[in-house]
Amino acid sequence: MKKKSSQRKKTTKKKASKAKKTTAKKKTIKKKFKKKKKRFLKKELNAYREKLLNLKDDLMKQIQEISDESLRKSQQEASGDISAYSLHLADRASDSYERDFNLGLVSSERRIVMEIDEALKRIDEKQYGFCQMCKKPIAKRRLDAIPYARYGTKCQKKIEEEER
Ligand SMILES: [Zn+2]
Repeated sequence: MKKKSSQRKKTTKKKASKAKKTTAKKKTIKKKFKKKKKRFLKKELNAYREKLLNLKDDLMKQIQEISDESLRKSQQEASGDISAYSLHLADRASDSYERDFNLGLVSSERRIVMEIDEALKRIDEKQYGFCQMCKKPIAKRRLDAIPYARYGTKCQKKIEEEER
């Protein structure tokens, strides 16, 4: 009795699988694609998003602070009012160095803010965590360290070598 029923099941299954053969092939491709796209759980993506937003917030504040400080100093200089720091001659000597340093800092921070915006866009477009060059997944370890990473370590190295 038992054997009979299982055999019957088998045959019906076989028939069904034959009929679905072509669609099944399409399905596996779709499945693979879906799997590739869904690399992270929603929870994980939200964590990355939050991390990126916090980082952006910090950077924006820093940029604002440095800009305010530079503006205040250059206004002081322009108005000839150097009395505020003429008492500190040693400080004055390092002012131009500091300004250059701050400008460099601000520009690199702005660049990171842009990278963060791009990464946030990739989260929305479900492309987050994939190398923009080879399309392979970026190691989670790397994303945890640099959540706005655009490329995997290998491609990043290649790009840096080409830029040199
Ligand atoms: Zn890559």
